[in-house]
Amino acid sequence: MTMLIDVHAHLDFPQFDSDRERVIEDARETGIFIVNSGLGPSGIEKTLDLARNHDNVFATLGLSPQEFSQETIDNTLALIRKHSAEILGIGEVGLDYYWVKDPSDRRKEIGNLQVFIELSKSLSLPLVIHSRGAEGDVLKVLEENDVRALLHCFSGSFEQAERAISLDCLISIPTSVVYSKNKQGLVKRLPLESIVLETDAPYLSPNPKTRNEPKNIMLSRDKVAEIRGLDKHVVEETTTENALRFFDLKVSVT
Ligand SMILES: [Zn+2]
Repeated sequence: MTMLIDVHAHLDFPQFDSDRERVIEDARETGIFIVNSGLGPSGIEKTLDLARNHDNVFATLGLSPQEFSQETIDNTLALIRKHSAEILGIGEVGLDYYWVKDPSDRRKEIGNLQVFIELSKSLSLPLVIHSRGAEGDVLKVLEENDVRALLHCFSGSFEQAERAISLDCLISIPTSVVYSKNKQGLVKRLPLESIVLETDAPYLSPNPKTRNEPKNIMLSRDKVAEIRGLDKHVVEETTTENALRFFDLKVSVT
């Protein structure tokens, strides 16, 4: 029986408004657990609801790095503290240098990330990091702090991935590994013990221009197995174990 963890998805997004229950049920029937990443106050409420109502959905709570409103940041921090017993981790939070180009805004992003790192330490919850075009600074911040992190949709170099692994971080490979040469290159060289799988649904579909959903994580498992020349059950077992250990999660398929 299949058991896989999609470590990063956004099923609270409007792209799932018409068939969210079916998508979650499809995942459940396939043996897939979903870690939904709720962003900001409204995403947090929706994500907590999904986790409360589905035994195969879990929550991490964070905020887009492009959010600079102090009021929204404070409300988000308060909500995470309030619901910390219901969640697996803090995130996604991080640095986005693709959308944010202004140097002083980038400094603000680093300051905000630092605040969420402090929160993760005080709550003893692991971090889920978003990094776009900012791997160098993300690694610097992680190296300066002593925190466990999962690098969601990692798009840095192999050398940067190795630095992250030396900090005990996990590298999360998205479903775009089915066609992305960069992701395939990482999968070829990184230790399987440091890899987890995610869809980032509705984004990063294995079939570009279509909506992604958690059951596509099976295609990632198969692709990783093909690249590594391993049995797909070995990839499934190892990546699932990695995710369960990281989130301190105990679940089984019923
Ligand atoms: Zn995401």
